[in-house]
Amino acid sequence: MHNGALRACGLNYVYVPFKVSPEGLSAAVSGLKALGVAGFSVTIPHKTAVMPCLDELDISAEAAGAVNTVKNDGGRLIGYNTDGDGMIRSIADEFGFSVRGASIAIIGAGGAARGAVAALCRAGAARIIIANRTRERAAELVSAMSLRFPDTGLTTVAGFKELEECLDDIDVLVNTTSVGMDRDALPVVQLTRLPPTSMVYDMVYAPPVTPLLQEAAKLGLAGANGLGMLAAQGELAFIIWTGVTPPSGLMKSVIDRICEC
Ligand code: NAP
Repeated sequence: MHNGALRACGLNYVYVPFKVSPEGLSAAVSGLKALGVAGFSVTIPHKTAVMPCLDELDISAEAAGAVNTVKNDGGRLIGYNTDGDGMIRSIADEFGFSVRGASIAIIGAGGAARGAVAALCRAGAARIIIANRTRERAAELVSAMSLRFPDTGLTTVAGFKELEECLDDIDVLVNTTSVGMDRDALPVVQLTRLPPTSMVYDMVYAPPVTPLLQEAAKLGLAGANGLGMLAAQGELAFIIWTGVTPPSGLMKSVIDRICEC
């Protein structure tokens, strides 16, 4: 999707993948810096481990505690996180909905949840409830984010059953766990108490219609998978590296084409 956008914008860059081992991360980052690359993406399992290898962190990365995009600014490597903002942009695109002032339920408390919660708080969400299989992890996320974002009401609940009881006034429910990648896995949360106007966003995108989205559709709720987020985080990274906005919808259409194959 990056190379498609680079071609469309007539920019003389190329985007290439490198597989890097955890032991080789620091040397790989030094090498990229020495080579003078314009920037790079960082993905699992390096999103947190890369942070000490960088010269500076943008607020998006600092708040999320993870980096997915690095810009080489004249020899200084600056880490950003575009995952959470990508999700918010995708929610706006898919549902025509702004998260400012909204009530959000989050399933999960891993790296993706952290990025999502930080971005939602920065975007002015009014209230966020988090439930996670390992309750302590959700509690730790709530206490870290509450200190940083006192204007958003952040709470956690004991488990998924307790979350189901708090869904009556939720605008958007977001699944940030990997549950659903196995197409036979049952959703960990029942959606029956969500209001009919609410939306269900599943960060999982393979299969494209996850079990959670099937459940949402049965109840007549609007739903979307994480492909839009994947494209949107890429668009934001592209802008950070090049200063150029890629043609609207181009990255998503490249991803859709790949998924059809
Ligand atoms: P992570 O840090 O390993 O966190 C995994 C989360 O899933 C934790 O909350 C974990 O709960 C929960 N979980 C895993 N298996 C579970 C199960 N069987 N039942 C209940 N909860 C379970 O991973 P991550 O980086 O946050 O990624 C999570 C998912 O988001 C992945 O599927 C990833 O592909 C997706 N993602 C999508 C995008 C996108 O662009 N669409 C971007 C980022 C991530 P515990 O804490 O209890 O272990």
